[in-house]
Amino acid sequence: MYNVAMMEGLARPRHPEPGVELLSYYRELLEGFGPQGWWPARTRLEVILGAILTQNTSWKNVRIAIRRLRRAGLLNQRRLGRASQSELEEAIRPAGFFRQKARTIRHFVSWLDRSYGGSLHRMFRRPPEELRRALLGIKGLGPETADAILLYAGRKPFFVADGYTRRILARHELLRPRAGYEEAQAYLHQHLPRDSGLFNEYHALLVEVGKRYCKRSAPECAACPLEPWLPRRTERAGLPTAATARQGEWV
Ligand code: SF4
Repeated sequence: MYNVAMMEGLARPRHPEPGVELLSYYRELLEGFGPQGWWPARTRLEVILGAILTQNTSWKNVRIAIRRLRRAGLLNQRRLGRASQSELEEAIRPAGFFRQKARTIRHFVSWLDRSYGGSLHRMFRRPPEELRRALLGIKGLGPETADAILLYAGRKPFFVADGYTRRILARHELLRPRAGYEEAQAYLHQHLPRDSGLFNEYHALLVEVGKRYCKRSAPECAACPLEPWLPRRTERAGLPTAATARQGEWV
Protein backbone atom coordinates (compact mmCIF):
# COMPACT_ATOMS: atom_id res chain seq x y z
CA MET A 1 0.00 0.00 0.00
CA TYR A 2 1.43 3.39 -0.98
CA ASN A 3 1.16 6.29 1.46
CA VAL A 4 0.54 9.97 0.81
CA ALA A 5 4.16 10.77 -0.05
CA MET A 6 4.14 8.10 -2.73
CA MET A 7 0.82 9.23 -4.12
CA GLU A 8 2.22 12.73 -4.44
CA GLY A 9 5.08 11.27 -6.44
CA LEU A 10 7.65 12.20 -3.81
CA ALA A 11 9.23 8.79 -3.38
CA ARG A 12 9.66 5.69 -5.50
CA PRO A 13 9.31 2.10 -4.28
CA ARG A 14 12.37 -0.10 -4.61
CA HIS A 15 11.92 -2.81 -7.23
CA PRO A 16 13.19 -6.24 -6.09
CA GLU A 17 15.03 -6.65 -9.39
CA PRO A 18 18.11 -4.36 -9.34
CA GLY A 19 18.20 -4.23 -13.15
CA VAL A 20 14.73 -2.63 -13.22
CA GLU A 21 15.81 -0.15 -10.53
CA LEU A 22 19.01 0.72 -12.44
CA LEU A 23 17.11 1.26 -15.67
CA SER A 24 14.67 3.57 -13.89
CA TYR A 25 17.63 5.72 -12.82
CA TYR A 26 18.96 5.68 -16.35
CA ARG A 27 15.68 6.78 -17.92
CA GLU A 28 15.23 9.55 -15.35
CA LEU A 29 18.75 10.89 -15.92
CA LEU A 30 18.56 10.67 -19.69
CA GLU A 31 15.28 12.55 -19.67
CA GLY A 32 16.62 15.15 -17.26
CA PHE A 33 20.11 15.75 -18.66
CA GLY A 34 19.78 14.55 -22.26
CA PRO A 35 22.48 12.56 -24.12
CA GLN A 36 25.97 13.50 -22.95
CA GLY A 37 27.78 12.90 -26.26
CA TRP A 38 30.71 11.04 -24.76
CA TRP A 39 33.59 10.66 -25.43
CA PRO A 40 34.41 14.19 -26.63
CA ALA A 41 37.25 13.38 -29.07
CA ARG A 42 37.95 13.36 -32.80
CA THR A 43 39.75 10.01 -33.09
CA ARG A 44 40.17 6.75 -31.19
CA LEU A 45 43.76 7.66 -30.38
CA GLU A 46 42.50 10.89 -28.83
CA VAL A 47 40.00 8.93 -26.72
CA ILE A 48 42.79 6.66 -25.48
CA LEU A 49 45.09 9.56 -24.63
CA GLY A 50 42.20 11.34 -22.90
CA ALA A 51 41.44 8.21 -20.85
CA ILE A 52 45.05 8.12 -19.64
CA LEU A 53 45.28 11.86 -19.03
CA THR A 54 42.01 12.14 -17.10
CA GLN A 55 43.30 10.07 -14.17
CA ASN A 56 43.24 12.28 -11.03
CA THR A 57 42.51 15.53 -12.82
CA SER A 58 39.62 17.55 -14.22
CA TRP A 59 38.46 17.28 -17.80
CA LYS A 60 39.28 20.98 -18.25
CA ASN A 61 42.97 20.19 -17.72
CA VAL A 62 42.76 17.20 -20.05
CA ARG A 63 41.33 19.44 -22.79
CA ILE A 64 44.28 21.80 -22.45
CA ALA A 65 46.76 18.91 -22.61
CA ILE A 66 45.04 17.46 -25.69
CA ARG A 67 45.17 20.87 -27.37
CA ARG A 68 48.91 21.06 -26.67
CA LEU A 69 49.41 17.53 -28.03
CA ARG A 70 47.58 18.55 -31.18
CA ARG A 71 49.65 21.70 -31.58
CA ALA A 72 52.84 19.65 -31.19
CA GLY A 73 51.63 17.18 -33.86
CA LEU A 74 51.50 14.39 -31.26
CA LEU A 75 47.98 13.24 -32.01
CA ASN A 76 49.51 11.49 -34.98
CA GLN A 77 50.34 7.94 -33.97
CA ARG A 78 53.63 7.67 -35.85
CA ARG A 79 54.80 11.02 -34.54
CA LEU A 80 53.67 10.08 -31.02
CA GLY A 81 55.70 6.86 -31.23
CA ARG A 82 58.84 8.87 -31.98
CA ALA A 83 58.28 11.50 -29.28
CA SER A 84 60.80 11.61 -26.44
CA GLN A 85 59.75 11.35 -22.82
CA SER A 86 60.57 15.02 -22.23
CA GLU A 87 58.68 16.21 -25.32
CA LEU A 88 55.62 14.31 -24.20
CA GLU A 89 55.92 15.53 -20.62
CA GLU A 90 56.08 19.12 -21.78
CA ALA A 91 52.94 18.74 -23.92
CA ILE A 92 50.79 17.08 -21.24
CA ARG A 93 52.07 19.04 -18.22
CA PRO A 94 48.65 20.75 -17.56
CA ALA A 95 47.04 17.34 -16.93
CA GLY A 96 49.15 16.78 -13.80
CA PHE A 97 51.23 13.70 -12.88
CA PHE A 98 52.76 14.37 -16.28
CA ARG A 99 55.89 12.23 -15.86
CA GLN A 100 53.91 9.17 -14.91
CA LYS A 101 51.26 9.79 -17.59
CA ALA A 102 53.92 10.34 -20.28
CA ARG A 103 55.47 7.00 -19.32
CA THR A 104 52.08 5.27 -19.50
CA ILE A 105 51.43 6.73 -22.96
CA ARG A 106 54.83 5.54 -24.14
CA HIS A 107 54.26 2.07 -22.67
CA PHE A 108 50.90 1.88 -24.45
CA VAL A 109 52.26 3.06 -27.80
CA SER A 110 55.21 0.66 -27.78
CA TRP A 111 52.94 -2.25 -26.71
CA LEU A 112 50.57 -1.36 -29.57
CA ASP A 113 53.50 -1.37 -32.01
CA ARG A 114 54.89 -4.67 -30.77
CA SER A 115 51.56 -6.48 -30.51
CA TYR A 116 49.53 -5.09 -33.43
CA GLY A 117 51.98 -3.29 -35.70
CA GLY A 118 50.54 -0.01 -34.35
CA SER A 119 47.01 -0.82 -35.58
CA LEU A 120 44.12 0.10 -33.26
CA HIS A 121 41.83 -1.67 -35.70
CA ARG A 122 43.71 -4.94 -35.17
CA MET A 123 43.88 -4.34 -31.43
CA PHE A 124 40.11 -3.96 -31.12
CA ARG A 125 39.52 -7.14 -33.17
CA ARG A 126 40.94 -9.17 -30.28
CA PRO A 127 38.27 -10.85 -28.07
CA PRO A 128 37.25 -8.19 -25.53
CA GLU A 129 38.03 -10.12 -22.32
CA GLU A 130 41.47 -11.04 -23.66
CA LEU A 131 42.13 -7.48 -24.74
CA ARG A 132 41.12 -6.21 -21.30
CA ARG A 133 43.61 -8.55 -19.64
CA ALA A 134 46.32 -7.42 -22.05
CA LEU A 135 45.59 -3.73 -21.42
CA LEU A 136 45.75 -4.31 -17.67
CA GLY A 137 49.22 -5.75 -18.21
CA ILE A 138 50.50 -2.37 -19.47
CA LYS A 139 52.30 -0.49 -16.74
CA GLY A 140 50.24 2.49 -15.55
CA LEU A 141 46.88 1.29 -16.93
CA GLY A 142 44.36 0.49 -14.20
CA PRO A 143 40.89 -1.03 -14.70
CA GLU A 144 39.12 2.31 -14.99
CA THR A 145 41.40 3.51 -17.78
CA ALA A 146 41.39 0.14 -19.55
CA ASP A 147 37.59 0.04 -19.48
CA ALA A 148 37.29 3.65 -20.69
CA ILE A 149 39.52 2.66 -23.65
CA LEU A 150 37.49 -0.47 -24.33
CA LEU A 151 34.12 1.26 -24.04
CA TYR A 152 34.71 4.67 -25.55
CA ALA A 153 37.39 3.89 -28.16
CA GLY A 154 36.40 0.30 -28.94
CA ARG A 155 32.65 0.21 -28.20
CA LYS A 156 33.13 -2.90 -26.09
CA PRO A 157 30.55 -3.38 -23.33
CA PHE A 158 32.55 -2.78 -20.14
CA PHE A 159 30.95 -0.46 -17.60
CA VAL A 160 33.37 2.13 -16.24
CA ALA A 161 32.57 1.67 -12.55
CA ASP A 162 34.41 4.80 -11.43
CA GLY A 163 34.27 6.62 -8.11
CA TYR A 164 31.10 8.58 -8.98
CA THR A 165 29.28 5.39 -9.98
CA ARG A 166 30.30 3.58 -6.81
CA ARG A 167 29.41 6.51 -4.56
CA ILE A 168 25.92 6.94 -6.06
CA LEU A 169 25.08 3.23 -6.04
CA ALA A 170 26.39 2.81 -2.49
CA ARG A 171 24.38 5.79 -1.22
CA HIS A 172 21.33 4.16 -2.80
CA GLU A 173 22.21 0.90 -1.06
CA LEU A 174 22.63 -1.00 -4.31
CA LEU A 175 26.33 -1.57 -3.53
CA ARG A 176 28.21 -2.03 -0.28
CA PRO A 177 29.72 1.27 0.93
CA ARG A 178 33.24 -0.04 0.38
CA ALA A 179 32.61 -1.95 -2.85
CA GLY A 180 35.69 -1.87 -5.05
CA TYR A 181 35.94 -1.33 -8.78
CA GLU A 182 35.65 -4.97 -9.88
CA GLU A 183 32.76 -5.70 -7.52
CA ALA A 184 30.83 -2.66 -8.75
CA GLN A 185 31.45 -3.53 -12.39
CA ALA A 186 30.40 -7.16 -11.85
CA TYR A 187 27.16 -5.93 -10.24
CA LEU A 188 26.37 -3.65 -13.18
CA HIS A 189 27.25 -6.35 -15.73
CA GLN A 190 25.05 -8.80 -13.89
CA HIS A 191 22.00 -6.55 -13.76
CA LEU A 192 22.10 -4.47 -16.95
CA PRO A 193 21.89 -5.59 -20.58
CA ARG A 194 25.50 -5.94 -21.80
CA ASP A 195 25.19 -3.10 -24.30
CA SER A 196 28.00 -0.68 -25.09
CA GLY A 197 25.61 2.14 -26.10
CA LEU A 198 23.78 1.87 -22.77
CA PHE A 199 27.04 1.69 -20.78
CA ASN A 200 28.47 4.66 -22.66
CA GLU A 201 25.53 6.92 -21.90
CA TYR A 202 24.81 5.62 -18.40
CA HIS A 203 28.35 6.16 -17.17
CA ALA A 204 28.42 9.69 -18.63
CA LEU A 205 25.09 10.48 -16.90
CA LEU A 206 26.33 9.18 -13.54
CA VAL A 207 29.43 11.36 -13.83
CA GLU A 208 27.12 14.33 -14.37
CA VAL A 209 25.10 13.42 -11.24
CA GLY A 210 28.33 13.06 -9.29
CA LYS A 211 29.68 16.42 -10.42
CA ARG A 212 26.44 18.35 -9.97
CA TYR A 213 24.90 16.76 -6.87
CA CYS A 214 26.46 13.65 -5.41
CA LYS A 215 29.52 15.34 -3.98
CA ARG A 216 31.86 13.49 -1.67
CA SER A 217 31.19 15.31 1.59
CA ALA A 218 27.93 17.18 1.02
CA PRO A 219 25.51 15.57 -1.44
CA GLU A 220 22.80 17.92 -2.68
CA CYS A 221 20.00 15.37 -2.63
CA ALA A 222 17.11 17.83 -2.59
CA ALA A 223 17.99 19.04 -6.10
CA CYS A 224 19.07 15.68 -7.53
CA PRO A 225 16.89 13.77 -10.04
CA LEU A 226 17.65 10.52 -8.18
CA GLU A 227 16.31 11.83 -4.89
CA PRO A 228 12.92 10.03 -5.14
CA TRP A 229 14.83 6.72 -5.00
CA LEU A 230 16.94 7.65 -2.00
CA PRO A 231 16.55 4.82 0.56
CA ARG A 232 15.94 7.11 3.54
CA ARG A 233 13.23 8.87 1.61
CA THR A 234 11.50 5.65 0.54
CA GLU A 235 11.78 4.27 4.07
CA ARG A 236 10.13 7.36 5.54
CA ALA A 237 7.35 7.03 2.96
CA GLY A 238 6.76 3.43 4.08
CA LEU A 239 8.09 2.03 0.79
CA PRO A 240 10.49 -0.89 0.28
CA THR A 241 14.20 -0.10 0.52
CA ALA A 242 16.95 -2.24 -1.02
CA ALA A 243 17.02 -4.51 2.02
CA THR A 244 13.28 -5.11 2.22
CA ALA A 245 12.97 -5.48 -1.56
CA ARG A 246 15.65 -8.17 -1.48
CA GLN A 247 13.68 -9.98 1.21
CA GLY A 248 10.70 -10.09 -1.15
CA GLU A 249 8.63 -7.50 0.69
CA TRP A 250 8.11 -5.38 -2.41
CA VAL A 251 4.53 -5.30 -3.63
S1 SF4 B 1 22.93 13.43 -4.46
FE1 SF4 B 1 21.63 12.24 -3.09
S2 SF4 B 1 19.87 11.68 -4.36
FE2 SF4 B 1 21.51 12.29 -5.75
S3 SF4 B 1 22.58 10.42 -6.27
FE3 SF4 B 1 23.62 11.29 -4.50
S4 SF4 B 1 22.68 10.31 -2.73
FE4 SF4 B 1 21.32 10.00 -4.48
